[in-house]
Amino acid sequence: MMKTLLTLGLAAAVALPGFAQKLKVNAKSKPAKSVGCLPKQGFPTGNLDSSQAACSDFYQFAAGGWLKANPMPSTESRWGTFNMLDKMNERRLEEILDRLTRIKNLKAPGSIEQQLMDLYLSFSDSVGRNQQGIEPIGEHLATLGRFNNTQELAGMLAWLRSKGYGMLFSMYVTADARMSEVNRVHLGQGGLSLPDRDYYLKQDSASKAIRMAYEDHIAQIFALCGMTSEAKDMASRVLSLETKIAGISMSRTEMRDPDKTYNKMSWSGFVAQHPGFAFEQFRMQLGVPAFDSCIVGQPAFFTSLDGLLMDKQLLPDWRAWLHWHFLRQVAGLLSSKHEAEMFRFNSTVMSGIKQMKPLKERSVRFVNGTLGEPLGQLFVKQYFSPRAKADVARMVEELRGVFRQRIEALSWMSPETKEKAKAKLQAFTYKIGYPDQWRDFSKAVIKRGQLVASLESVAAVNLQYNLSKIGKPVDKKEWGMTPQTVNAYYSPNKNEIVFPAGILQPPFYSENAHPAMNYGGIGAVIGHEFSHGFDDKGSKYDGNGNLSNWWTAEDRKRFEERTGKIVAQFNKFKPIDTLSINGSMTQGENIADLAGLTLAFYAMENQLKKCDPPLLQADGFTAEQRFFLSWAGIWVNHISPSELRKRLITDPHSPGKYRILGPLANMPEFRKAFGCAPGSEMLAKEEDLVVIW
Ligand SMILES: [Zn+2]
Repeated sequence: MMKTLLTLGLAAAVALPGFAQKLKVNAKSKPAKSVGCLPKQGFPTGNLDSSQAACSDFYQFAAGGWLKANPMPSTESRWGTFNMLDKMNERRLEEILDRLTRIKNLKAPGSIEQQLMDLYLSFSDSVGRNQQGIEPIGEHLATLGRFNNTQELAGMLAWLRSKGYGMLFSMYVTADARMSEVNRVHLGQGGLSLPDRDYYLKQDSASKAIRMAYEDHIAQIFALCGMTSEAKDMASRVLSLETKIAGISMSRTEMRDPDKTYNKMSWSGFVAQHPGFAFEQFRMQLGVPAFDSCIVGQPAFFTSLDGLLMDKQLLPDWRAWLHWHFLRQVAGLLSSKHEAEMFRFNSTVMSGIKQMKPLKERSVRFVNGTLGEPLGQLFVKQYFSPRAKADVARMVEELRGVFRQRIEALSWMSPETKEKAKAKLQAFTYKIGYPDQWRDFSKAVIKRGQLVASLESVAAVNLQYNLSKIGKPVDKKEWGMTPQTVNAYYSPNKNEIVFPAGILQPPFYSENAHPAMNYGGIGAVIGHEFSHGFDDKGSKYDGNGNLSNWWTAEDRKRFEERTGKIVAQFNKFKPIDTLSINGSMTQGENIADLAGLTLAFYAMENQLKKCDPPLLQADGFTAEQRFFLSWAGIWVNHISPSELRKRLITDPHSPGKYRILGPLANMPEFRKAFGCAPGSEMLAKEEDLVVIW
């Protein structure tokens, strides 16, 4: 389900030196003149580097001071203001969990308070976990040890999947992209451990070094789980088989095209076409009710997979692969040695993080990742303001109004397509804060001291929840993110934009901030999510959330001429010597940033007309200038080289620096705000300027 969400790309969470804190400090000021207008307030000018010219390197100008004053902590791989917000949210979650552990007469088993507390205490009990060692997975390993034939793989995978260990391919229920009211079973490619097929296939020295480190890591985990003598042989088999699987996988860029990943077929036909894997047995054993048709994301992957499964010589490789895919998902929950080895590879080698987070922080993150929605239920009771919700709802409608006017004024689109675009825009729905109805986790059995079994129980509840959707209409009230998440998303199938409570805070939004700061923050985020409905991918869905073409051929061509320029602009950015931004993979996000900022800018201009001019000046910056400084303040960050490499390969979002430089290079509004001379360094040439929406 999550794969259909187009996000803002944040999610990571301290007392904020810099932008956010400054906004808070100024919370107590004179009453507002009118809605959205606020008295002049201080701007964190210490974040700037005024030795730089705004028009030659706005990134350094807007954030040079901040970057110097806020070095990256050794426990992080990326560090910016929204990581700080994320961290602050985490501290609040920690307070909530700590409070639960102090309650004497805790509620009955199955209550969310009992579940959260026992899960939290189980993870933080490092002494108990060390004593248990690999005992919690003893039975699992005995069962896997009996695997001797790829024909048995379906049974093994169904058994593992029922406990939450997914591998080889995904099978889940979500909306049919061409019948958005109907839930249908979807199948997607899988089988890899490294973050992308490129890690297996690229031949540069950095990629080769990562593969060597990966093979060593697999062997270490096998040895720690009692398979010392076979460890090296098994590790080399895993890497060899995964490299074959990488070779038959579809690339991320290719998967951006929703027409390519929509392949509806009858279940019986799919089963018959793939004799290498007992799909029907897998379905029955997993308890999936019978269904007629399914949607296959990557048919060629499944066809080639059949060949790998039927190759008898590969049996020992499959055996090693099966053990590894189980262990990599569970090892982090075992002893300190297991956890340390998982950290060494996944965080240090892959992301450049030097030091493990303290046990307490890891425990909070684990609970948040496992029972996020129940935890969010407690979070919003304490940290959500209905006033903020009303204010953000007002901004959503303002931006919708600006978008409508801009569609009407477009010079490249025919009146016919404009009507369709406006109808889609009008049909957008939105959610702010937290769900109206919460999911029920009461059947999950969480027992203190039984970390692995508790997690498997939550996974079983999640699986049943998903499977129960078969045959039911799509639930429009469901949320794709927990309320405490610092992020936002657009769902093409629901044609809705969603803003969890977690993001309605500084530096994105404050009830007391200057409007320019809020429009350059949450305003641009709202615009970004709206624009996803009109990016390379979202524009293929109509207002009812169906994958169906509403464009004339000429309009589509003119649209793609413009998006093609965005692709070309971003392809030229080279954050690492050997690696450029993938302009095609990131185009949806880059389009959404450019369009979103433009919409928010004009919504702000409308708002400012209602304010007294003296309110708008502060610290020598105009409202328009502060709008862009606010946007920059959100995306400035430190990032480790290996994290940057990973994101350039896997993340549909451009790195923070280029989310500032990329869109501003195209915006006449930015040039005007800072009085940039033609030909200024970071700006696109007049003839290359792109305006899409
Ligand atoms: Zn996005």
